[in-house]
Amino acid sequence: MLETKEFDLATTLVQEKMVDAEKVAHVQNSNPLEHALLVLTKTGYNAVPVLDFHGKFEGIISKSHILEAMFGVEKIEVELLEKKTVSDCMDREIPTLLIDDTIEQALHELIDYNFVCVVDEDQQMQGIITRRQLLKEYRNEYYRKRNKS
Ligand code: AMP
Repeated sequence: MLETKEFDLATTLVQEKMVDAEKVAHVQNSNPLEHALLVLTKTGYNAVPVLDFHGKFEGIISKSHILEAMFGVEKIEVELLEKKTVSDCMDREIPTLLIDDTIEQALHELIDYNFVCVVDEDQQMQGIITRRQLLKEYRNEYYRKRNKS
């Protein structure tokens, strides 16, 4: 029978379980909000990473950031979607992980965020680690151990 590798929080690295950067939808800080809304709507994600022109991670933007930025003095102003950029309303206070960090370190961040970006020493985005992936690993480990005993 095929033996699956044990999932150990302290020794499994983030890079082993992350979604690689090429599969991660993102926007650039200079993009108009209209483009960011299009990406979020088409992908169905609530939030995506924001990168600079050189691929460095800068933060995240979510549908609620965009909605908030569309409020004019009294009402929602759709024109603001063209006038404002991602940089105007994104969240920059976001933790990141390094590719050599362990899943144990990721676990702490994933309590507050449903995904965390993985970067290298130059802040270049390498991928993301998601809460769903972590839960799947736990589920698989649970059944692996149960079937063994
Ligand atoms: P999940 O745990 O798969 O539901 O993903 C949690 C969150 O991570 C999503 O709501 C997105 O904000 C983000 N996410 C997951 N996969 C991707 C992806 N391929 N590209 C961009 N963001 C993603």
